[in-house]
Amino acid sequence: MATTETIIKCPYCGSDNVTKAGKSPNGAQKCTCRNPECPHTTFQLSYTYMGSKPGIEFEVLKMAINGSGVRDTARVLGVSCDFVISVLKKKENGTNKSI
Ligand SMILES: [Zn+2]
Repeated sequence: MATTETIIKCPYCGSDNVTKAGKSPNGAQKCTCRNPECPHTTFQLSYTYMGSKPGIEFEVLKMAINGSGVRDTARVLGVSCDFVISVLKKKENGTNKSI
């Protein structure tokens, strides 16, 4: 995890032609999609979207190995408890080949 800058893609059209447009009152990053074909011009980076960020599952597992609880992990990484649990379950079942 050398870089903290993530490539933002529009969740509606998948374009990475996206610019950041400040933050909403609840702290979510607002973005503007510059793809003229896109049906949505603005969107927020939600926690759900963060959950699909490549490498976040690795971060969840790393915190679990270090003894962090599900709630702590979810709070620190900004994902839901359900997401943390699902990652840990996948690991237990050995179905996640990417880790
Ligand atoms: Zn778009």
